Amino acid sequence: MIEIKEVKEPKRIPIIGSVMGMFTVFKHLFQKPVTVQYPEVKGDIPDRFRFRVYLSTDDCVGCTLCEQVCPNLSITMMNLDKENQRNKRKIYPTVNFGTCTVCRNCEEICPTDAIYLKEVFETARTKNNFMYSPTDLEKGEDEVRR
Ligand code: SF4
Ligand code: SF4
Repeated sequence: MIEIKEVKEPKRIPIIGSVMGMFTVFKHLFQKPVTVQYPEVKGDIPDRFRFRVYLSTDDCVGCTLCEQVCPNLSITMMNLDKENQRNKRKIYPTVNFGTCTVCRNCEEICPTDAIYLKEVFETARTKNNFMYSPTDLEKGEDEVRR
């Protein structure tokens, strides 16, 4: 016959956990915070960080490669009546930032470096509109903020 022994829980002293918690808080009082007071203070941005897509309509030849390579269908071409001898079809990319995952495929495939990403990341909106027309893509973020 198997003898079943009762396992006794070790006696806990509640005050020890509380003291250790207070000690942890006290220790962090004298350490430099790892957070910053954004947006007043902007943290360090890594050199290779990129977010916002920009476009130079003067350089875009309307080849549609960026549209084809975008994995999220975030780019669609639209007509823009602009004098540009290099873009006979007068079509330019629009970008939906609501679905863009910043993969940079568009930048890499563009034969004329017309589309590129920069480190600008403050693209918050008060309205649910993340579509950037070709002319929006040429402007700075302050000019297109909605
Ligand atoms: S960065 Fe990537 S996801 Fe964003 S528009 Fe370009 S190809 Fe599309
Ligand atoms: S931005 Fe570049 S890849 Fe896209 S249509 Fe214009 S030239 Fe072609």
